[in-house]
Amino acid sequence: MRRISITIGLVALVATAHSASAQRRRGEFTHADTLRGSNGPGRSWWDASFYDLHVAVTPADSSIRGYNAITYRVLKPAKEMQIDLQTPLEADSIVQDGKPLTYRRDGNAFFVSLVASQPASAKKTITVYYHGKPKAAKNPPWDGGFIWRTDSLGNTWVSTANEGLGASVWWPNKDFLADEPDSQRVAITVPDSMTDVSNGRLRKTIHNADGTTTFEWFVSEPINNYSIEVNAGHYAHFSELFKGEKGNLTVDFWPLAYHADTARVQFKQALSMLGCFEHWFGPYPWYKDGFKLIEAPHLGMEHQSGVAYGNKYKNGYLGRDLSGTGWGMKWDFIIVHESGHEWFGNNITAKDAADMWIHEGFTNYSEGIYTECQNGKQAGAEYIIGSRRNIRNDSPIIGTYGVNNEGSGDMYYKGGSMIHMLRQLVDNDEKWRGILRGLNSTFWHQTVTADQIESYISRAAGKDFSKIFQQYLTTTDIPVLEYKIDGDKLSYRWTKVVPGFAMAVRATIGSGKMEWLKPTETWQTWPATIAATDSVTVDPNFYVLAKNAATPTPTP
Ligand SMILES: [Zn+2]
Repeated sequence: MRRISITIGLVALVATAHSASAQRRRGEFTHADTLRGSNGPGRSWWDASFYDLHVAVTPADSSIRGYNAITYRVLKPAKEMQIDLQTPLEADSIVQDGKPLTYRRDGNAFFVSLVASQPASAKKTITVYYHGKPKAAKNPPWDGGFIWRTDSLGNTWVSTANEGLGASVWWPNKDFLADEPDSQRVAITVPDSMTDVSNGRLRKTIHNADGTTTFEWFVSEPINNYSIEVNAGHYAHFSELFKGEKGNLTVDFWPLAYHADTARVQFKQALSMLGCFEHWFGPYPWYKDGFKLIEAPHLGMEHQSGVAYGNKYKNGYLGRDLSGTGWGMKWDFIIVHESGHEWFGNNITAKDAADMWIHEGFTNYSEGIYTECQNGKQAGAEYIIGSRRNIRNDSPIIGTYGVNNEGSGDMYYKGGSMIHMLRQLVDNDEKWRGILRGLNSTFWHQTVTADQIESYISRAAGKDFSKIFQQYLTTTDIPVLEYKIDGDKLSYRWTKVVPGFAMAVRATIGSGKMEWLKPTETWQTWPATIAATDSVTVDPNFYVLAKNAATPTPTP
């Protein structure tokens, strides 16, 4: 979840937190963008291994107070450490080996002067104590932060959503996608009347003397920082057991108490989702931490092992079908999409926000896969093809590296369509399923570059897809299959393509059967003769245009 196009009539509205930054060009990024998005000198020498996070949340004045004890491995000796914590939050002290350290603030980053030696391969801990009123979300989950709400009975309901913006909007950490801790404690203290549901498993509930309760959650597997969540409210709880590929998976549901009956019906979809995605993508990645759906006061977010749900217990996307085919109304968009991220986004995480298509393209594709599991292969294909109406081709899908910049929102539907097209080119469903599962097993619990994902797919398919990735991820041009019929001869070529683009494509020629064409940028001639009245119809599973050279406009 991040940026979802909602098509209303012919107007596609993209709710986007970062559309402004997506449109920025190289050279328009700031020093702060570089501190946030690159593996700078205050970051590259250490590897986060454990975050021990303790935060007391006070809804009465929208403030928080707490600390994070950061345990890290020293990769190479250093004297200065960057820790991210966004304004207006204040650091109270930063302590190592019992001694307070000096630090300077540079916007949303703190640079801490270390006193103790930091020998290579040593394991050290540094603790940041902090407090303040964190940025309140303006339009969560897109324009996120802390979310202070009441439920419809007037009970206090508090939540966080901070993808893109970053976890440092509410807690201190290395706010960099490429470094995940191996495990994390998330101890959240709230007023006694509330229950907090965070990531992983609940280890302890501690009733404090001051009218507050601490819910101590523990994540025992690597987790991306933006997944860490607070959800504090008046919750009901029920559970299921999913018998999956790695044994019994606990499935826990946390709806608001007054939605418990509705949730018992709607949340059944989580079990069919798990069955479908395990079949296609491999085992659910977090058996140790379990799977949870937690009702939240925003639309939803792929928080690892605790998916935030706010789709109002409706099928579709808040009751609408983003694909316009009808298939999108057969299931709950937030249960399916956000859970799809457990494989693509949480299990396999992009090292840089510029490669966020690895999260959103594959997860859009997973919506088609879920449709296929429920309604057959044709339905799944129709869903993906229908979703193309949301594509804008406004700017490239891959953003600018090193500055926490995402590319176009086309990463969703165009990304999904590209992946669907790769399946056509593999032309063997079992092999294709093996590639999707292979991605998840090869990059299990890892952060990756786009190049790793692209190379893996090409290698596993036994076909070089590099020009296809380049075309669809780095340009806004859709390939045009240009053809001409000259007497009984058919010729064709690719135009509007990157140099060397030679994707095979399926098409019917006249009323004949589907044939594979192998166009390049130069004219090729079809080996058989055709009738002068024949036309060429490209298989709609390919996101390309076709154009008779004799007519002016290409057609999809
Ligand atoms: Zn998403």
